[in-house]
Amino acid sequence: MYDFDLLVVGSGPGGQKAAIAAAKLGRRAAVVEKRDMLGGVCINTGTIPSKTLREAVLYLTGLNQRELYGQSYRVKEEITVGDLGMRTQHVIGREIQVIRSQLTRNRVTLLRGTGRFLDGHTIGVVDVEGEERKVTAEKIVIATGTSPARPDSVEFDERTVIDSDAILHLDRVPDTMVVVGAGVIGIEYASMFAALGTKVTVVERRERMLEFCDLEIVEALKYHLRDLAVTFRFGESVAAVERRGGGALTILESGKRIPADCVMYSAGRQGKTAELCLEAAGLAADTRGRITVDDHYRTEVPHIYAVGDVIGFPALAATSMEQGRLAAQHACGEPVADLHELQPIGIYTVPEISFVGRTEDELTRERVPFEVGVSRYRELARGQIIGDSYGMLKLLVSPEDRRLLGVHVFGTGATELVHIGQTVMGCGGTVDYLVNAVFNYPTLAESYKVAALDAMNKMRAIARLTGEG
Ligand SMILES: Cc1cc2nc3c(=O)[nH]c(=O)nc-3n(C[C@H](O)[C@H](O)[C@H](O)COP(=O)(O)OP(=O)(O)OC[C@H]3O[C@@H](n4cnc5c(N)ncnc54)[C@H](O)[C@@H]3O)c2cc1C
Repeated sequence: MYDFDLLVVGSGPGGQKAAIAAAKLGRRAAVVEKRDMLGGVCINTGTIPSKTLREAVLYLTGLNQRELYGQSYRVKEEITVGDLGMRTQHVIGREIQVIRSQLTRNRVTLLRGTGRFLDGHTIGVVDVEGEERKVTAEKIVIATGTSPARPDSVEFDERTVIDSDAILHLDRVPDTMVVVGAGVIGIEYASMFAALGTKVTVVERRERMLEFCDLEIVEALKYHLRDLAVTFRFGESVAAVERRGGGALTILESGKRIPADCVMYSAGRQGKTAELCLEAAGLAADTRGRITVDDHYRTEVPHIYAVGDVIGFPALAATSMEQGRLAAQHACGEPVADLHELQPIGIYTVPEISFVGRTEDELTRERVPFEVGVSRYRELARGQIIGDSYGMLKLLVSPEDRRLLGVHVFGTGATELVHIGQTVMGCGGTVDYLVNAVFNYPTLAESYKVAALDAMNKMRAIARLTGEG
């Protein structure tokens, strides 16, 4: 009766995994995607270009080798946008090929164009010539993601006043830059450009940044960024941005004026729902373009699902993929597990941050007792070998049942290392497992054992004094 069993609008991580999961279950699946955007924001303008740029910056600046070879060590003296863009384009190209091949191998039909609802089961796909083709589907998954929010009061010109999409197309590495908004994206780019030698000023309305992270680790990050000549203006709002010949003047409400070659706005993101004609399907988005869903990613119209950034928090590629898979399984009538509550967070600043579970602040607010075990990379042989003296790993342990309540990592490999802690936590393991486990030597993973021993010793000290245990 329908052209497809499941049709997905948007080929980002959420959309891809939804379509492939349905195809694996033997359903006729299709993905609608605009020309030149296969792989979504993730591959084309967000995660992959930004993480590749970071890798290129770290390699070319030699930043991570300077503790060993001296502060003047560099792989390349004059780093151009060409040097940076070459690596980014290479990775984007390869990733698009991988996605295309995965869709083809799984017999997922790719429909090129912009999709919009004509009714609850019909999507009109408008190609670049403006021709509209109608396709019908029993179940539909909206995975249209987001685009950078642009305040009306600011005139963007893609060169001097830009958002996180345009930053990938700068014609030169700026000498000075203002980053408005110290969220994850803003602070990741601020740290990359600071590593390149750009003098960066970060303006943030709130008094703190990355409030959801461990405070001690955020302080360590701020210290490092200040060392790379980043200036923070917390508790300050932008009143106006004036473009002048060869740069822009950012005027703060406090009266401060900051000159810079370039101003990057990173002030949140807007759900991409305006083109979807949601009303034709009996749906509506909120003022931020977001769609509300239930625990199974169903919208108010039960055969229409929504996944990924378009449904809001946490708006990560990692989570979007899993939401897509779970939504498709539900749509296909398969038994579905809930999204695991232990979701890791990775922040690819320079140095990087990652954590899973609770923070000290949260536990203290909720009056949950915990003990802290810390390991510093400089005390590990691997830390010395790679020249990372600042990295640290922190375990939050329940003194009651010795389970891990949170794992927080700062420094080289943080986003990889966190998964050891996530696995122990997910399997209900205790700190005793880490104390007794043998880790490869010399590794950064060894920091788990060192931190576990530290927590254990602190708990033992309390037990000695109180006569418990
Ligand atoms: C600079 C930056 C860095 C990031 N870094 C990380 C990171 O390190 N780790 C991480 O996990 N996440 C990161 N993210 C977030 C991550 O990119 C998103 O969470 C993820 O891409 C969301 O996936 P999605 O499935 O919602 O779709 P998206 O990737 O947002 O893609 C949606 C797709 O839908 C298409 N589309 C929209 N409307 C229509 C329509 N009407 N018809 C047809 N197609 C349509 C768009 O063209 C787009 O290709 C980053 C994001 C940004 C911007």
